[in-house]
Amino acid sequence: MRIVLLGPPGAGKGTQASRLAERLEIPHIATGDMFREAAAEENEAGRRIRKVMECGELVPDALTNDLVRWRLARPDAQDGFILDGYPRNVEQADTLDGILDDLGTKIDLAIKFMVRGSDIVARLAGRRVCPVCRTVYHMDTHPPKDDEVCDNDGVPLIRRDDDLEETTLRRLEVYGQQTRPLYEFYGERGLLTEMDALGTTEEVFGRLLAVVGR
Ligand code: ADP
Repeated sequence: MRIVLLGPPGAGKGTQASRLAERLEIPHIATGDMFREAAAEENEAGRRIRKVMECGELVPDALTNDLVRWRLARPDAQDGFILDGYPRNVEQADTLDGILDDLGTKIDLAIKFMVRGSDIVARLAGRRVCPVCRTVYHMDTHPPKDDEVCDNDGVPLIRRDDDLEETTLRRLEVYGQQTRPLYEFYGERGLLTEMDALGTTEEVFGRLLAVVGR
């Protein structure tokens, strides 16, 4: 299955995508994770990407599209994938169509994660990540067993730089202006399914499985 996950930042796409990928045995392709990895490098490209992300802006389309084109051509993505965080604007969605066309395939399903605006800010404010194994926690809904340290390796959890207040607002603005039009894009093509993304991780995962027919 070839699936695109859509929704505002903090809707829980990443958490659900990695579980679904495991269940369906297809790769979870998250451009945000790929860019965070690149941004951690001490070189010119790393610095540039870091700057863009810290402001809550999008990485330029040309770079993002090339990265996805490369990733989707890898052998492990030939039988399906879950795209998380891409496409993020209409230009990227058009490019994705072209990339898949070249590979002789297409998207099966675009799933919209529905959350209330007021929940998003709380979700992003409570989010913590392990800097070593990248496990994502939430201090209210999915806290670590011991106060603010990772269950897997005992390392103190951190906040993502772009989860700090000012950047969050800009990310939401970018989402509203650039990503929202994708609902119409996939809706018009008959590929969009809306899913309530409120509730526990388990509840949402159950709904997601129903949406993909598992
Ligand atoms: P969230 O969905 O929580 O905002 P992501 O991890 O998906 O976070 O993305 C973090 C940042 O990475 C974005 O704010 C943006 O700067 C960059 N990024 C991720 N995916 C894309 C994309 N498809 N196009 C451009 N920039 C992207």
